[in-house]
Amino acid sequence: KSKNAGRNCFHIYSADLKAEADQRNVLEIELREAIWREEIEVFYQPVIELGTGRVKSVEALARWRHGTRGFIPPVEFIAVAETGGLIVELGEQVLAKACRDAMTMPDDVKVAVNLSALQFAGTNLVDTVTFALAQSGLPQTRLELEITESVFLADTQENLKTLQRLKALGVSIALDDFGVGYSSLSYLTAFPFDKVKIDKSFIDRIDRSETVAVLKSIVQLAKTLKLSIVAEGVETSEQVSQLQSLGIALGQGFYFSKPVPLADLSWQGHTARRRRQTAA
Ligand code: C2E
Ligand code: MG
Ligand code: MG
Ligand code: MG
Repeated sequence: KSKNAGRNCFHIYSADLKAEADQRNVLEIELREAIWREEIEVFYQPVIELGTGRVKSVEALARWRHGTRGFIPPVEFIAVAETGGLIVELGEQVLAKACRDAMTMPDDVKVAVNLSALQFAGTNLVDTVTFALAQSGLPQTRLELEITESVFLADTQENLKTLQRLKALGVSIALDDFGVGYSSLSYLTAFPFDKVKIDKSFIDRIDRSETVAVLKSIVQLAKTLKLSIVAEGVETSEQVSQLQSLGIALGQGFYFSKPVPLADLSWQGHTARRRRQTAA
């Protein structure tokens, strides 16, 4: 009897897995189509200089408006793109669009584009970036590339070389989601990054003395390594004050603005919470 129950369990389990796999396949097919039709949109979220309220850069964030399901979160469709072999094409489209859009922004504002570790696997990432800059006319100094430490997990030597060639183009390189991995510190010294983005989980807990201690040491390290620091996921004015007292000069988060379409970006008035916000 218990054997039977076990079998039934297995059947239910595998049926669930199959349903999940089918759903994923459908999503992958739909995503492939959306990329093919160039329907992936790019929203922008400003990075603010806390002391002045000025927009220093904007981060490009991919948005997929699904025909029947509305916006699908990037965490979901980026993963599908990565497993389905679509991330290189998707990444190229976002990069090209971000560079073009940046040409319509004030020229002291940089644009930051997220890269997947899998975009480093193809050998032509450097060509892709060079091409996007040339096609758009965007000066290389206005482009920033955001990577996570996953870039260092596979093909480390090869990826490091690619990173060096990217930096040699004159674009800047930021380490994203800093602090959530388990070897963050070593990665910070593995490459001459221009910027480090401290993960939201630290900002969420900035009222704790342990977090303050960690942030103090990150600030110290960043000074030594001559990196600028951005706090991600800033949601309250208390967090802004805390960050400023820690000497962290840049912040990004819903407190200032959610990611918005290009047309909705505003270049002033970010010291106080914006009243009108477009849903992300
Ligand atoms: P990320 O690069 O760390 O981007 C920051 C994420 O935090 C964004 O989520 C943004 O909307 C969200 N965020 C910003 N401020 C706040 C806040 O105050 N509160 C909260 N709760 N969230 C905030 P989003 O747009 O959903 O993107 C999630 C992740 O998907 C990104 O994390 C990035 O890793 C990835 N992603 C998005 N676009 C692209 C892309 O074009 N290429 C690649 N490779 N990855 C992308
Ligand atoms: Mg990012
Ligand atoms: Mg991040
Ligand atoms: Mg993140």
